[in-house]
Amino acid sequence: MKAMVLGKISRFHDNKRPLEMADMPDPVPKDTEILIKVSTCGVCHTELDEIEGRTPPPHFPIVLGHEVVGRVAEAGKTVTRFQVGDRVGVGWIHSACGQCNYCLSDNENVCEQFRATGRDANGGYAEYMTVPEDFAYPIPEVFSDAEAAPLLCAGAIGYRSLRLANLQDGQNLGLTGFGASAHLVLKMAQHLYQNSRIFVFARSEKEQAFAKELGAVWAGSTEDASPEKLHSIIDTTPAWKPIVEGLKNLECGGRLVINAIRKEDGDKDYLLKLDYPSHLWLEKEIKSVANVARKDISEFLQLAAEIPIKPHVQVFPLKDANRALRELKERKIRGGKVLSIP
Ligand SMILES: [Zn+2]
Ligand SMILES: [Zn+2]
Repeated sequence: MKAMVLGKISRFHDNKRPLEMADMPDPVPKDTEILIKVSTCGVCHTELDEIEGRTPPPHFPIVLGHEVVGRVAEAGKTVTRFQVGDRVGVGWIHSACGQCNYCLSDNENVCEQFRATGRDANGGYAEYMTVPEDFAYPIPEVFSDAEAAPLLCAGAIGYRSLRLANLQDGQNLGLTGFGASAHLVLKMAQHLYQNSRIFVFARSEKEQAFAKELGAVWAGSTEDASPEKLHSIIDTTPAWKPIVEGLKNLECGGRLVINAIRKEDGDKDYLLKLDYPSHLWLEKEIKSVANVARKDISEFLQLAAEIPIKPHVQVFPLKDANRALRELKERKIRGGKVLSIP
C-alpha cells in the first residue's frame, strides 16, 4: 500500500518535507481487528507534535493520522461488530489493556497501556490500517467522510472536557480561549444544557463579538471578572494566565477543566499571582483532560449528528500531506484539513 511515513524527528523549520511517500506491505488484521480501506484522514496539530518530537513516536517509520474514516475491507476471525463494507471511524485511542480498573470504568484513556493511533500504531495517512474492532465507530449517515474526520479528534475531546466540567442544566459555564475547539464546546453546551448561560473570555474583540453572535450571554477579555460566578470553566489555551484569571470567577466548589495537551512556559510566571483565598479556597478544583475514551467518541458522533455540527473542511490529496501540515503550522487558513486517499 501507499503511505506517507515519518522516518525521524525533525524541526519543521529545517525540514519542510518530514513525511515521505512509501510503499509498505498491506497490514493484516489480527483475529480481533478490522482492516480499514481509508478514504479520508484529518490533519491535526498533534501530528506537528509527533514530527517535532513533543509527542515522539516510540519507533520509526510510523504512519501518522488519527482522524480516520474508511470502510471495513476485511474482518478478523472473532470480529462481531462490523462487516466488510461498513463505514467506520478511528480516533486518537487505538487500544488499551481492557482489564485494568480504568479500562473497566470507561476511562481507558488513562490506561497505562494506552496506545495512540498514528503514534504507537500506524494510522490513517495510508491506503489501509488495522484497529481492534472495539476501537472503531460507525459514522452517522448525515456526515460525508471528509466532514466526519475532524469530528473524531477535537470534537470528541471537547465533548470529554464538557463531561468533566460536571455541569447541570441551568448552571453557568465559562469558556476561556475561543478558537475552533471552544466553538465546538459552545455548540454542544447549548444543545445539552439549554438553560445554562455561557460566558466567554477571549483575547481579541473580534473573538468576543463572534462569541456573542454564537449565543454567549457575555464576552470579555481573559482577565475580566464575569458578571456572574461560574460553576465550570473550560480552558482551551496553551497559557497560564487564563487559568489564574479564570479561577477567580468560579463559584464555591466550581471546577476549571484544562483541555490542552500541554501548557507552554512563556507566561508560567503568571502562576505566582495565584492567590489562595480568591483563586482556590472554598473547594475550587482544577482538572485536566487526557486523551479520549471510546464513550466520548461514540457519544459525540451521535450528538454532532443531532445538533448538527458539520465542520468546514479543506481537502488535500494524500501526497500533499506535507503541504497540509505546513499550512496548519503557519495557520494559513482556518477550518479543518483532511487528506483524501483514493
Ligand atoms: Zn487530533
Ligand atoms: Zn487498561
